[in-house]
Amino acid sequence: MSAPNIETIVSLAKRRGFVYPASEIYGGLGSSWDYGPLGVELANNIKKSWWNWVVYERDDIEGLDSSIILNRSVWKYSGHETTFSDPLVDCRECKSRLRQDKLDQDADGKYICSNCGSTNLTDPRPFNLMFRTMIGAVSSDDDPAALAYLRPETAQGIFINFKNVLDTSRRKLPFGIAQIGKAFRNEVTPGNFIFRTREFEQMEIEYFVKPEEAAKAHQEWIDGFDEWLGSLGISAENLKHYEQEKHELAHYSERTVDILYRFFPEREDEAKQWDELMGIANRTDYDLRVHSKKPEDAEQKRINPDSTEDLSYFDTATNERFYPYIIEPSTGVNRTLLAVMMDAYTERTNDKGETRVILKLKPEMAPIKVAVLPLAKNKPEIVEMAKRLKKDLQPSMRAVYDDTGGIGKLYARQDEIGTPFCVTVDHESLEDNAVTVRDRDTWEQERVSVDSLKSYLGERLTI
Ligand SMILES: [Zn+2]
Repeated sequence: MSAPNIETIVSLAKRRGFVYPASEIYGGLGSSWDYGPLGVELANNIKKSWWNWVVYERDDIEGLDSSIILNRSVWKYSGHETTFSDPLVDCRECKSRLRQDKLDQDADGKYICSNCGSTNLTDPRPFNLMFRTMIGAVSSDDDPAALAYLRPETAQGIFINFKNVLDTSRRKLPFGIAQIGKAFRNEVTPGNFIFRTREFEQMEIEYFVKPEEAAKAHQEWIDGFDEWLGSLGISAENLKHYEQEKHELAHYSERTVDILYRFFPEREDEAKQWDELMGIANRTDYDLRVHSKKPEDAEQKRINPDSTEDLSYFDTATNERFYPYIIEPSTGVNRTLLAVMMDAYTERTNDKGETRVILKLKPEMAPIKVAVLPLAKNKPEIVEMAKRLKKDLQPSMRAVYDDTGGIGKLYARQDEIGTPFCVTVDHESLEDNAVTVRDRDTWEQERVSVDSLKSYLGERLTI
C-alpha cells in the first residue's frame, strides 16, 4: 500500500519531525516548510543517491554549484524576464487571485473561480514568477541598475558555465553537468504541502550532445530515471509517463516527457490522481545559442550583444563547429521526498488490535539505520552497554540511542520513522554478550552476538 492521501504524510511529518510549517510561531508563511531532524536526513539521502548515480557511477558527468543570484542579463537572454509568467485573474466576487490555466471552464468556455464558483473574473494579465531583489546600497526601491532575481531554476547557471567546465575538464561530447540547489518561484497558487512551494530544491542535469544524437540520449535518460526512482523504493504502479503535447511544450523544447506520481490516490477520477514528479526535456541548441555573442538575426545583427563568449563546440573529428543540443532531466528534491514517503507508508495491526504506522523506507533512504534500545533504563550496566554499541555502530551507519519509553513504544516510534532495525540490550546481554535485533518490516526478532552485530547489520542494510 501507499499513503491514502497527502494529509496523512503532513500529519506524520509534523508528529515525528520530518517537516514543520515554516515560521510557525508567527502564524506561518504561506506554503513554506522547514525540514526537521529526520526530514533533513531523508532529503540528504535522496540528494546523495542522485549525486552518486549521476556524478560518481557514470563517467560523463561533472558537478557544479553556481550562484543563486546571477547577472540580470542571464534572465534577459534566457527569456525569463519576458515570458516566465503565469496568466493571473482576480475573482470579482470572492476576491481570490487565481491562475487562469488551472481553472475549469463552463459550457460557454468561461473560466470558473475554484474558490466560489463564480465566472465573474477579470481578464488575464501576465504575472512574472521571478522573485526580485536589489544588489548593493541602492537609493530607491526600483533602481533598474540594481535589480536582480533569485534564480527560478538551477539550469541557467549550468549553461553559462558550459565553456568553463568544457575547458577545465577537457571533456568531449557527450557529457553533462549536474547541480543541486535552491530555486525560487513566486507561484500564484502554491499548495499541497511540499508539492508546490515558492522556495524549493532542484537536482538538474544538463547533458550536452551532438544534435543528431539528442533523440536517443533523451530516451536513455527517461528510461534511466524510471530505474533511479525505482531504486528509491517508489513502486512502478505509482509512476507513469506523460508526453507533453506540441502546444504545451516550452518555447525551447522539442520533446518533453514528464514522469508523474500518484500524489492524489484519494481522487475518484483516476486521471486526476497524477501530477508531475519530474520532467525530462530535449531543449535543442536554444540555450547555448542565446547566451552566445556570435549568432545573428536576419539583418546580421547580434542576437545577444551583451555576451562576451561564444558557447559553440568544435568537433575535432569532423572539423565542425556547432551548438550542442541539451537534454535536461530536472527533478525536485521536495517532490521526490514526498513521493518516497507516500510510497513507503503502510499500516499494520498488532496482536492487541492497534493500528501501527510503518514507514517501509529502503535502508538507503532511512534517516536512521539502527536504534539501540536498553530494555531497562534503571540498570546502569544495560544502559552503558547500549550506549557503547551505539557508539561502535555510528561510524559505519547512522545509529541512535533511545531510552525515552517502554520497549513497545520505542519500537512503534522507530517503525513510524522508517528505521530498518532496532537492537535491544537486555539482562541476558550482560551474560551472553548478545542482543536482540528486530526487523521493522516483519517484526521478527533474532538473537545476534555483539561481535558479529556490525557485519550482520551491514549485510542486511547492504551498506
Ligand atoms: Zn471567487
